[in-house]
Amino acid sequence: MSQRHKRPKQAVSSMEQDIRNASRKHDFRMAKSLGQNFLTDASVVSRIAEASETGPKDLAIEIGPGMGALTEEIARMAGKVVAIEVDDRLIPILRSTFALRSHVIIRNEDVLETDMRALIESERTLASGEDAEHVRILGNLPYYITTPILMKLLEERIGASSITIMVQKEVAERITAKPGSRTYGALSVAVQYFCETEYVLDVPNTAFIPVPKVDSAVIHLRLLEKPPVELISEALFFDCVKKSFGQRRKTLHNALSGIGGLDKQQTGQLLLSCGIDPVRRAETLSLSEFAALANRLAQPGL
Ligand code: SAM
Repeated sequence: MSQRHKRPKQAVSSMEQDIRNASRKHDFRMAKSLGQNFLTDASVVSRIAEASETGPKDLAIEIGPGMGALTEEIARMAGKVVAIEVDDRLIPILRSTFALRSHVIIRNEDVLETDMRALIESERTLASGEDAEHVRILGNLPYYITTPILMKLLEERIGASSITIMVQKEVAERITAKPGSRTYGALSVAVQYFCETEYVLDVPNTAFIPVPKVDSAVIHLRLLEKPPVELISEALFFDCVKKSFGQRRKTLHNALSGIGGLDKQQTGQLLLSCGIDPVRRAETLSLSEFAALANRLAQPGL
């Protein structure tokens, strides 16, 4: 997120005051390069925690705890919390805040480098000795790496039940978009292949310090036990999606020409054989239609 330098004067929330005090005490300055825009609105923090559906028998994994505002809330709800923070300057602050709560574990690492399956394996036992019922992932994500983080969590099939995240509003709209909408694209299809998506809440930029240029939104993703479509080849499915949306203004006939070594006439035949009018555009295709296309392409003798 990039930052504005000025914002209208308004009452400072107690969360904002706490962040300012802790920053002063620890001589901490927020780093734009790490997407550090901290939440100052307690009601938004509660809504994220609530939307995550975290229960007392769950393991919650928070990405980017910052100074621990959301961590505090989720620590009251979860059986165990693992918070992954890359900025080593925040680690002493977090460790001292949660020193007396043994079920909160702070890890100083880059989430993109974390072996999430191994982390879950090693942390899923709760203090009661029982295994966590659900793994809940949540966080106010650093926006400069939202998509890589999300795709890593989905593609690595880490066994989580849900992902509840704050992202840029425009990204939230793309992730939850349905076919036929202006914001429906490759990201919508990719995420909806793995999850049921829910747009939870709009969050204005004034809910953060520093105030970012963009507005935000919270989304809740419920991981599906099995994908909503059956595929012969996942790679081919994602190829079709990427190529179709690569030139989203073009008809599918033009955008997909050349796929699987097919010439333009064969591409037209492929589309027709799947019941798809070649003059349609990618943004009108459902997941099932992309699947039909990819499965037809995977068959020999097309
Ligand atoms: N959760 C806090 C809040 O809501 O106030 C902070 C959210 S801030 C938008 C994003 C946080 O992610 C920052 O604390 C930043 O240092 C951390 N972060 C950035 N890149 C990261 C990475 N690759 N791995 C883990 N944490 C990261």
